[in-house]
Parts: sequence; structure tokens; C-alpha cells
Amino acid sequence: MKIGPNSPCWCKSKKKYKVCHMQFDERLKGFSKNPKIELPPREIIKNDKQIAGIKKAAKVNNLVLDEVSKMVKEGITTAEIDLLVYKLITDNGGIPATLGYYGYPKSVCTSVNEQVCHGIPDDKTVLKSGDIINVDVTTILDGFYADASRMFMIGDVAEETRKLVEVTKEAREVGFKAIKPWETCVGDIGYAISEYVKPFGYSIIRDIGGHGVGIDFHEDPYVCHIGQPMTGMLLVPGMVFTIEPMINMGKEDFYEDESNGWTIYTEDKKPSAQWEYTVLVTEEGAEIIAY
Ligand SMILES: [Zn+2]
Repeated sequence: MKIGPNSPCWCKSKKKYKVCHMQFDERLKGFSKNPKIELPPREIIKNDKQIAGIKKAAKVNNLVLDEVSKMVKEGITTAEIDLLVYKLITDNGGIPATLGYYGYPKSVCTSVNEQVCHGIPDDKTVLKSGDIINVDVTTILDGFYADASRMFMIGDVAEETRKLVEVTKEAREVGFKAIKPWETCVGDIGYAISEYVKPFGYSIIRDIGGHGVGIDFHEDPYVCHIGQPMTGMLLVPGMVFTIEPMINMGKEDFYEDESNGWTIYTEDKKPSAQWEYTVLVTEEGAEIIAY
């Protein structure tokens, strides 16, 4: 169905199409003949009201991770982190998105050392000196989602492991900087990250990656951290997604813990690191919302 210039815009902003997304649609049409470029579907383009809602959820999510960073230390259990996350999110009016998600039992993912992601908090996992841990938090507030994770290094961490953590953090930043609205695609993010990581001899997880987020926990696009320039979905204003490279010190191979159906481990038992933030593509560039 064709929308007239004076009809309400499809983005539900309640503005007239001609002053809202009409120019956007015309610009998008210019890319439709390139078979390597995927055009973003309308349902993932957020309007101002939705962006404000996602930012509010992100504010809570950031606060939670700030508090986690103060309490993560040698001797605490991952169950204690879970309890803190649950309390802070719910005290701020939110819901932990992972709790009950396809049966996931906790409010946070805590992935230690060779756990790549989806580590489940428990009272048997006591953090010890030399450990690295990823704490991944997603908050739902008033129906909007924000998703981020940080790494923490406990006590005396081996130099080579420390380096893995630092390179992974920088890889996320390099991916973020590849976002140029109307000029680059999701593949450029993966390309920038993989080119940056290559000289270190690490491997990047290809089959688990970033995702659209905001109105739902997992939306389009899939953000692979390995990619080719100008391939995949075009990056345009109003898109919200995560960048969350998982980088292994050794080989890429991983397996899933069959006993819980969630936790991913490196096959070679070498450590894996991950940093995640939620970003918004804007007219001028991009903005980090949750970190
Ligand atoms: Zn619109």
C-alpha cells in the first residue's frame, strides 16, 4: 500500500509521512539494486518515542553494570552477582530479560574463563584470582530492552589473558566506528573487527553475535563479527543493535553444555572474552546507549 505525503508515517511517530520518513524511503530505494545490500525492514526502525524508551532502559542497565563492577572481586560467587542484578533491575522498575527467557533460570549471564557466553550463575562458582568474567545484563523497562556486557579481571590475571580482554574491548570500539549511516553495512562492522583482531592470532566466534534490540530482546539484523565491506544490512538512522564480539585466545571451536543447554565453552579450554554494548544509528553517526 502506498502512503500519501500527508498520511501518518509508517513509523507511528504520528507525524505526516512527508516530514518524517518519506525522504528516508527515497534514499533507501537508491540501494535496492545492489544485490549484496539488504534493506532494513521498517519494523526495526525506531521512532523518537521508542528511542527514548530504549534509552531509559539503558540507563537502568548501565547503573546495574556500574554496581556490578564495584562488587565483583575474588571470593564472591556468580550467584551473588545474579542476586544483585535481580535486585537492582527490579528496584528500578525493570525486568531482567534473561529470567525465564526460553527457560533460562537467572537474571544475568556470568561467563568465566573458557566459558564463551551464557554462563549460568550458581553458588558453586567462586571467583578466584586469575579469573576473567563476562557479566551480561539485559533490562526490560516499560517494554523496551537494553543489552550490554562487561569483562572483569579478578586479582592477578596472566598477561596474555589480560591482553585478550583488552583487544576484545578495542575490537568492539573498532566495530562501532565502522558505523556510517547510509554509507556502510553490517558487514563493515564485522570486517573492521576481524581485520583488527587478525594480527593477534585470536579467533572470533562467527555463529553467535550481535543482534537488533529495543522493542524485543532479539531483532534483526544479525551482527556477525566477521564480515565483508558493503554486504549485509545497510546501516540507517533509527536502527538499534548490539555489538558484542566473542574472541577466543585459541581456536574458534566451541560446544554447548548439554547438562544445562545454555553455556558455551571453548573446545580447547582456552579463555574467551566478550564486551557488548547497545548502539543507536543516528543521522550523524552512531551513539552508544548501553555499555
Ligand atoms: Zn516516520
